[in-house]
Amino acid sequence: MCGVFGVLAPGADAAPVAALGLFALQHRGQESAGVAVSDGEQLMLYKDLGLVAQVLDERRLPSLRGPLAIAHCRYSTTGSTVWENAQPTFRLGRSRALAVGHNGNLVNTRELLGRLSGGRARLPATTDTELLTALIADEPASDTVEALRRVLPSLRGAYSLVVLDERRVIGVRDPDGFRPLVLGRLPRDNPGSREGGWLLSSETAGIEVVGGEVVRDVEPGEMVVLEAGSEPRSVRFAEARDHLCVFELIYFARPDSYLLGRNLYEARRRMGVALAGELPVAADLVMPVPDTGAPAAAGFAEASGLPYREGMVRNRYAGRTFIQPSQAMRQRGVTVKLSPLREVVRDRRLIVVDDSIVRGTTTRQIVALLRRAGAREVHLRISSPPIHHPCFYGIDTQIETELIAATHDVEQIRAFVGADSLGYLSIEGVLSALELPYDRFCFACFDGNYPVPVPYDTRNRKLMLEEPIAATAVGPGDG
Ligand code: SF4
Repeated sequence: MCGVFGVLAPGADAAPVAALGLFALQHRGQESAGVAVSDGEQLMLYKDLGLVAQVLDERRLPSLRGPLAIAHCRYSTTGSTVWENAQPTFRLGRSRALAVGHNGNLVNTRELLGRLSGGRARLPATTDTELLTALIADEPASDTVEALRRVLPSLRGAYSLVVLDERRVIGVRDPDGFRPLVLGRLPRDNPGSREGGWLLSSETAGIEVVGGEVVRDVEPGEMVVLEAGSEPRSVRFAEARDHLCVFELIYFARPDSYLLGRNLYEARRRMGVALAGELPVAADLVMPVPDTGAPAAAGFAEASGLPYREGMVRNRYAGRTFIQPSQAMRQRGVTVKLSPLREVVRDRRLIVVDDSIVRGTTTRQIVALLRRAGAREVHLRISSPPIHHPCFYGIDTQIETELIAATHDVEQIRAFVGADSLGYLSIEGVLSALELPYDRFCFACFDGNYPVPVPYDTRNRKLMLEEPIAATAVGPGDG
């Protein structure tokens, strides 16, 4: 995944606004954070491993001066969590300095590497973002927009970008629009900038947290150029195909964000209503797996007429289980993250609602926790379909064997996690909750229909990462 944020704040320093906006996007990536600024003449960059508040603290921000900024928080999809792979990337090009923040994942990294003069040895990091930054910087065009216009059509896969040069912040969204990107306005006389300004954010929540107003989505296949003294300029570089990742609506984006005009809390609540219609079961109460399962659990309870209770407490300081980078960390994570509320679950038949099952290990531990706390029955209801296929567009589910639904049917998964019953919402149920047609989305991890073909070598790029650095493949992709 990853979160990206961009700011143009004439007459003010953009870095504090960018850091605050990025803080609102922390859920999209927790491995590293960074900000690049321009004072109109030169770029400065600060990035490090860690959470946004740890990296972009009050000691760092005052030294990052200038009215233009981009910021990024990282969730690695394959590349290791090392300083070099943190973003924004930075490169001095033939005629310009350039910084890039990337949400998404390219699927033709190997092909693109063949176009880079000097090859792999020129890249200081092992991410697809580093490669695309080098390709843009190498373009002889003196104008960054023109360089982007030449390079972007060669990219395949998912990319929502924020790009910074000395004078501009540019938002870019790939032709399929896999990842969201929103344009916002910073009103005059706000604390961030007296002259107002413009914003780019992965999610609407980022715009609102800094006191901005959401203007519109950056369209798939569109660049939006922010420059002092003028309104945002739209440059189309490809026809829109429109395949927003449906997982953004099911799970990943914040519930207070809006996508395609849908508030995501409301969309998820409606998925819960649909789930109750498809898979009813006799029980005493409905509870969520906190906290992302809560909207669907509320909808399930409402539709089934059963009481809604919180049967587990989540430690708010533990990271999201799904985006911890290793299996060992994931397994440690769940036990410190969730505790059962014995008074709620003891001797009760529970309907436990979650938004997804990826590997099954977390779900299995949750069921065991509830049984140890005295639950009489545990009926799992999942507000998305089974994940049968890997994602190559920016979510770390690239290895099929790590997906329990790729190798087990529903009954086998139920047995593995130890539940009394298990049911998943259908694709039709998701669409009925969203009231939008199938072809508006990517559903590839559920049904295998990849909107952008994925070359075989990309499918194996986790293994390629193990190769020595002299190998031909770059391998990694950033989320
Ligand atoms: S494959 Fe799944 S997670 Fe990946 S972009 Fe498509 S819907 Fe989203």
